[in-house]
Amino acid sequence: MIVCITGSTSGIGKATAQEFAKQGHDLILTGRRKDRLSILSSDLAKKYSIKTTTLCFDVRDYSACESALNGLTDDWKKVDILVNNAGLASGYDPIHEGDLADWNRMIDTNVKGLLHTTRIVSPWMVAKKSGHIINVCSTAGHEVYPNGNVYCASKHAVDALTKGMRIDLHKYNIKVSQVSPAHVEETEFAEVRFHGDKERAKIYEDFNPLKSRDVAEIIYFMASRPFNVNIQDILVLGTQQASSLIIDRSGRK
Ligand code: NDP
Repeated sequence: MIVCITGSTSGIGKATAQEFAKQGHDLILTGRRKDRLSILSSDLAKKYSIKTTTLCFDVRDYSACESALNGLTDDWKKVDILVNNAGLASGYDPIHEGDLADWNRMIDTNVKGLLHTTRIVSPWMVAKKSGHIINVCSTAGHEVYPNGNVYCASKHAVDALTKGMRIDLHKYNIKVSQVSPAHVEETEFAEVRFHGDKERAKIYEDFNPLKSRDVAEIIYFMASRPFNVNIQDILVLGTQQASSLIIDRSGRK
């Protein structure tokens, strides 16, 4: 299978690339940090004897997405699985103090970025009448928490798009699924949300959250079900986390 993963330079995307590579699948790795893409690509190709290729582009820029993805050879365009993972939270402010640059960054990446890659890759799947699109949503796509306003709205949009995409694509034998995790460590998510403030980003020290590979294994599980099974959504939280706000922070267990 050919698996295209957006945002594979760190966190959940990188762990997902490692999981699919371990299972012997060929990979299209994308992100903005070219050096990281090159290292991951050559490491995985060597370790697992798979084919890999890298595409360096910003998902917010439709013409950059188009020229990168349309530049693939016909063989690589036979994408079986698209993992729309690239995304971020930016800022943590109440709505009346929100930064417009943060809002645009989240909406452009999480919503428009996902639409951009889907718009380019889904016609290839429709043409071959097979494929699987897996969107990385969040618990924030199902519930809203203080100061989460625009990030939660962007992930609610992902939830709506997953459902809408499935309605439009199921008749072409294309599955559309999503995974909705709560806090996930071994990612750069918190550091990005707090604009590089490493102290504020220490949000996982007093409980045991999910790890990026836990989410990667779930994505692989979804992707490896037989044709008649389409998992629509997996909502997954760490055992010490009961909801976005209810977390047992009494120490790591
Ligand atoms: P990371 O910051 O570790 O990874 C984010 C990835 O997205 C990076 O590879 C980054 O690559 C890529 N990315 C970000 N912006 C762009 C862009 N404009 N163009 C292309 N690529 C981009 O965080 P996570 O692994 O945690 O995040 C992955 C997904 O998981 C996101 O959609 C996030 O919302 C979701 N999620 C995360 C949770 C968590 O607690 N960590 C919980 C629930 C959902 P590069 O910078 O190289 O472009």
